[in-house]
Amino acid sequence: MASSSPLAILGGEKAVTDDDGDIFQWPIVDKTDEQAILEVLHEGSMSGTDISRQFEAEYAQWHGMEYALCHNNGTAALHAAMFGCEVGVGDEIIAPANSYWAAFLPAFSLGGTVVFADVDPDTLTIDPGDVEERVTDDTKAIVAVHHGGYPCDMDALMSLAEAYDLKVIEDVSHAHGGLYKGRMVGTIGHVSAMSLMSGKSLAAGEGGILMTNDQRIYQRAVAFGHYLRTHSDITLPELQSYIGLPLGGYKYRMNQFSSAMARTQFARYPQRLAEIQKAMNYFWDLLEDIPGVNAHRPPEDSGSTMGGWYSPTGLYRPEEVGGLPNSKFAEAVQAEGAVCGEGVTFLWHLHPVLNELDIYGHGRPTRIAHSSRDVRQGEGSLPVTETLPERTLRIPSFKRYRPKIIEQHAEAYRKVALHAEDLLGAE
Ligand SMILES: *Cc1c(COP(=O)(O)O)cnc(C)c1O
Repeated sequence: MASSSPLAILGGEKAVTDDDGDIFQWPIVDKTDEQAILEVLHEGSMSGTDISRQFEAEYAQWHGMEYALCHNNGTAALHAAMFGCEVGVGDEIIAPANSYWAAFLPAFSLGGTVVFADVDPDTLTIDPGDVEERVTDDTKAIVAVHHGGYPCDMDALMSLAEAYDLKVIEDVSHAHGGLYKGRMVGTIGHVSAMSLMSGKSLAAGEGGILMTNDQRIYQRAVAFGHYLRTHSDITLPELQSYIGLPLGGYKYRMNQFSSAMARTQFARYPQRLAEIQKAMNYFWDLLEDIPGVNAHRPPEDSGSTMGGWYSPTGLYRPEEVGGLPNSKFAEAVQAEGAVCGEGVTFLWHLHPVLNELDIYGHGRPTRIAHSSRDVRQGEGSLPVTETLPERTLRIPSFKRYRPKIIEQHAEAYRKVALHAEDLLGAE
């Protein structure tokens, strides 16, 4: 009975006995960051672009990319990427419904709309087979979100792009520095965009960056939201006449405090990323054989990695633990003193903003304001995505490799998984 259970939630000893210390602290900020920001402050150059350009050059070089363009946040970078790919009135983008809204919502203000595709149950990234089912003559782009850091199936997505003449926009906001079959994510699609928000693994406060090897996409992104750079960066005849004004009516340049921090954070990033990867992989290695919870990471010999492991997730398989709901599992792990929660919580395709709201006064929902057909999707339209609230867990986001504390957190998961039956009768 309950009284004999070792689980802390039923009166047993806690698995986590040590203090977390700084293992979850992010971003890691030191004197180098402080000094860089103070320099900007004392020079009075917060609105310049010099530091952004230095960061762009460094970041592009790290990826082996031709063009990089700093933005005031990742949302703006995605908006500009969509404009760069000519998403316009009546066009459709295909995106996943389980990630962040900035991966699709900016399409609305371009006159475009979104069609959501389902995801793979193990990678949690967009399922190329389902994408293909949803391609129409109006499809312009696919947004590939490397969810939780897991690289999308880029080979398949790029083949679809080739076959149907589409653009692929990589959203790398969870995966800075990650690899897909040995190649850096953010270098494979036609354009990539990523957030540098303070919670992201490369953290500049608020910021975003767009990268591409396509001159036209780059210059369109400059023309869209960087009016001061139109003079220096635009050479294409089709954009020449409009130099001096941002075509989007947006002003998307990055604050130089953020650019300065982006540079100092980036200088230490490869080494910090390696530590995050070591810590997160260690956690999963310790849990390889338990029932109910599977690692969300690519196979070791795939040449793919999880990048920054932003918002790390576990794959929850209730059928392996007697049907115990993930909310109960998470509660029991928390009682052990470890970090755990329900995982994916977004099902954007069911949100009223996507289905009902007339944002701009078209006289009908914005989602279908310019479409030739009703692209709205009800319950049941994304069968895998819709199971994710029950089939994922939020796991600890370790930023440092501290084996003892990681082992204690893993032990909390192991205990609950192995004694799940103690919780089944307890309701
Ligand atoms: C954070 C995030 C963004 C947006 O970035 P901001 O810098 O917050 O605007 C876009 N896509 C994904 C997947 C994100 O997680």
